[in-house]
Amino acid sequence: MQKKGLLIVVSGPSGAGKGTVLAHTIAKYSNLKYSVSVTTRAPRAGEVDGVNYFFKSVKEFEEMIARCEFLEYKRVYDNYYGTPLVNVQKQLDDGYDVVLEIDTEGALDVKNIYPDAVMIFISPAKRSTIEERLRGRSTESEEQIQTRTQSALKEIRQAVFYDYIVVNEDSQKGAMDIIAIIEAEKCKVKNNKKFIDNLINGGK
Ligand code: 5GP
Repeated sequence: MQKKGLLIVVSGPSGAGKGTVLAHTIAKYSNLKYSVSVTTRAPRAGEVDGVNYFFKSVKEFEEMIARCEFLEYKRVYDNYYGTPLVNVQKQLDDGYDVVLEIDTEGALDVKNIYPDAVMIFISPAKRSTIEERLRGRSTESEEQIQTRTQSALKEIRQAVFYDYIVVNEDSQKGAMDIIAIIEAEKCKVKNNKKFIDNLINGGK
């Protein structure tokens, strides 16, 4: 029987560079699958439906809520964001590790549902980097940059509830840190109880 995968929850403020770190991580670690969230926000330039997000209308999103199709969902800024349950469950059952890139509130909801979820907070090295990165990507208005910078500070206060913090000074190094965390989690005794039982009982 294939072993169940690890559920990994990654959060961090806008401008922490989560997306780049995770893209490098997934490129290096093929067992890790990215859970594509559903959102009602408009796609940014270059974003692809079904790859970055599943882009839906508010009506479609609310129908999904009514059908209990989300593991968790939240209103973040002016839009809905949610994690579709079915894909996550299937990939974990198939033995893949699954990473959710979600806000801190959603992350704490997931931890309540899946207490074994591994919680990783990605942080910029310096506070000033948050605003610099948001300005650098030129996708938000001035007002949105101010809102996101304020929420970033709120999110950083939640980092104490996470298991690990990855400081993103260099996204390749950040990816290596996440892989090291996954490997260490896989070596935890609590994740290898069946293996030990099999050794004791003479199974394969
Ligand atoms: P963005 O609009 O920059 O892609 O994402 C805004 C925020 O929503 C980020 O903090 C991101 O992690 C969070 N987010 C993305 N998908 C989900 C989701 O499925 N659930 C929750 N709770 N937050 C999400």
